[in-house]
Amino acid sequence: MKRTYLLVFSSLVLFLIATSSRMKGEASSRTSSPGSRDIVLVVHGGAGDYSKMPPEQIAIRRAAMTKALGVGYSILVHQGTSLDAVEATIRVLEDSGDFDAGRGAYYTRDGVPELDSAIMDGNTLSAGAVASVKHIANPISLARLVMEKTPHVLLVGEGAEQFAKSQGIDLVSPYYFYNESEWKRYRDESAAQAKDKSAGLAQDQVHGTVGAVALDQAGNLAAGTSTGGTTWKMPGRVGDSPLIGAGTYANNESCAISATGVGEYFIRNVVAADICARVRYLHVSLEEAANDVVMKELVAQHGEGGIIGLDHQGHIAMVFNSNGMMRGMVGPDETITIKVFKE
Ligand code: ASP
Repeated sequence: MKRTYLLVFSSLVLFLIATSSRMKGEASSRTSSPGSRDIVLVVHGGAGDYSKMPPEQIAIRRAAMTKALGVGYSILVHQGTSLDAVEATIRVLEDSGDFDAGRGAYYTRDGVPELDSAIMDGNTLSAGAVASVKHIANPISLARLVMEKTPHVLLVGEGAEQFAKSQGIDLVSPYYFYNESEWKRYRDESAAQAKDKSAGLAQDQVHGTVGAVALDQAGNLAAGTSTGGTTWKMPGRVGDSPLIGAGTYANNESCAISATGVGEYFIRNVVAADICARVRYLHVSLEEAANDVVMKELVAQHGEGGIIGLDHQGHIAMVFNSNGMMRGMVGPDETITIKVFKE
C-alpha cells in the first residue's frame, strides 16, 4: 500500500516538473501548443538582402516552402524520422528551382554550378556530406547515402559523383541547372568584373541556400543544408553548408542547426557547433546562444547571415543579422508560418 502510494506520488511530481519546464519553453519561443509528443519542422531559404527581390519571386518561394513543409510534416506526423523529414523537405526545395540549391543553384565564375550539402542525425551523430558536385540533382540525398553507405563523412567532386553512380543515382547534365534569370545575372556579373576586378557582389544576390531542422516523435533531432554556394564563387570553393559544425550540426544533447550566409564567416566561427556547445555546456537557451553567436560574434566581424535551430524540447530559434531570411515552420498545431523580414 505504502509502495503504491509512493509510486503514484513520484509520478505526479515527475509529471508536474515536465509540465512546468514545457510551459517555460513555450513562453520563450514556442508559437504552438505541444502535442502528446512534439514534432517540429523548421526550414530556411537563405539569408540576405531581400529588399530588392520582386514580390512575385518572394511569393514563388513562399509557395515552394509551404509545399516542402507539408511534405516533411506529413512524414513526422506518420511517425517518420526527423532524418527522413529533413531530406524530403530539402528535396522539394532543390527540385523547385526557386532557390540557390539543386535545380536553381547559382553559377561559379566558370558559369557552372557546384553544389554542396550535408545531413546529420542528432541521435547517433552520424553525418554525411558532399561538396563541389556538378551533376547531382539532389545533393541532400547523396549526402544521406554518404552517411549511410560509406565509412566517411564528406565526399567531394568526381569521387562523390562516382559514388553516386555506384548507388544508382543518374548524373544530370549541367543544363539541368540552367535558369534564364540566373544566367543573365551571371553574365552581368562577368561583365562587371571584366571592367573592374574589384567590383563587389550585388547584395541582392547573396541568398537562396536551403536548410531544415526537425524533431520527430521519438525525440530525435536532425539537420540538413543544401546550396549552390555564394554568387561569383571561385570554382572549387566550398562553403560552410557541407562542413559539419560550421553550417550544419545536430546532436540530441543540445540542438540541430542549419545556417545560411557568407560561409567563410560560418566556417571560421564554427557557428552551428558553437551554438550547440553553448546550449550544452553553458546551459543557456537555444535562443540566447544563437543570438550571442549570430548577433554579436558574427556582427562584430561583418559576417552576414543567420540560422534556424531546434532543441530536443522543440524550442525554435530563427536568428539572422541580414535584412531578411526566408524561413518557415510547422509545429504540433499544424499551422505553417512563413516569414521573410524581421517582425
Ligand atoms: N552559406 C552558403 C555558402 O557560403 C551560402 C548561403 O547560405 O547563401 O556557401
